Amino acid sequence: MRTPIVIANWKMNGGLAANANLVSGLKKQLVGQQATTIVICPPAPYLAQVEQLIESSNIQLGAQNASEYSVGAYTGEVSLKMLQEFGVQYVIIGHSERRVIFKETDQQVAEKCKAVVAGGLVPVICIGESLEERQQGNAQIVIKKQLQALSLEELRGSFIIAYEPIWAIGTGETASPEQAQEMHEFIRFQLRELLAERADSVKVLYGGSVKSDNAGQLFAMPDIDGGLVGGASLQAEEFFAICRAA
Ligand code: 13P
Repeated sequence: MRTPIVIANWKMNGGLAANANLVSGLKKQLVGQQATTIVICPPAPYLAQVEQLIESSNIQLGAQNASEYSVGAYTGEVSLKMLQEFGVQYVIIGHSERRVIFKETDQQVAEKCKAVVAGGLVPVICIGESLEERQQGNAQIVIKKQLQALSLEELRGSFIIAYEPIWAIGTGETASPEQAQEMHEFIRFQLRELLAERADSVKVLYGGSVKSDNAGQLFAMPDIDGGLVGGASLQAEEFFAICRAA
């Protein structure tokens, strides 16, 4: 049995006042809601603030990225140890925006996952195909390759997979529940090949234009264990409605 989880990826949005508003709005709505794990991933400078804001709530804290290095001369980077000090439990790794814009390679993504697990945190590992790859009929090949490159069998701790088709991110174009389910089923099959029975406890989330009006149908699919939500996580009511659908 995999408990559903909904993760808010604020990306590079927010500010002190807006964050306080958003989290307090969310906390008001969440009273009594326990079944779904809810995680907020703010930009790194706001981790300390959000750690305080979510105190005495069920909301957990996540980060959007982490360095694969533990300490030293890596200007601009944030280490796992630093994230731990702020109560971070989850770290998004290999988001397509990091792979495409910041040129993170499969190998770097794999190293980051290793570092996150070694630090006792849970990586939320993003995979997904581009529109071109899907149109050429290569979506499953791309996903299989991305999964294999992660060396999941070497990770000694839990991790989450997030399937985020690049063509559905921030475009308003969601994968249909059937399209998403088809890929999630394929991912679960690949996980079983790589991890045998250990695969059954791995949560596979869907991300890409999840909104309150499509979340219910997506989360009802048998192989979708929750969502990784961008834009719609920036409004308390909208995000709460998504969490409730999980
Ligand atoms: P949107 O929900 O804004 O499409 O973003 C999805 C995403 O990239 C979450 O990580």
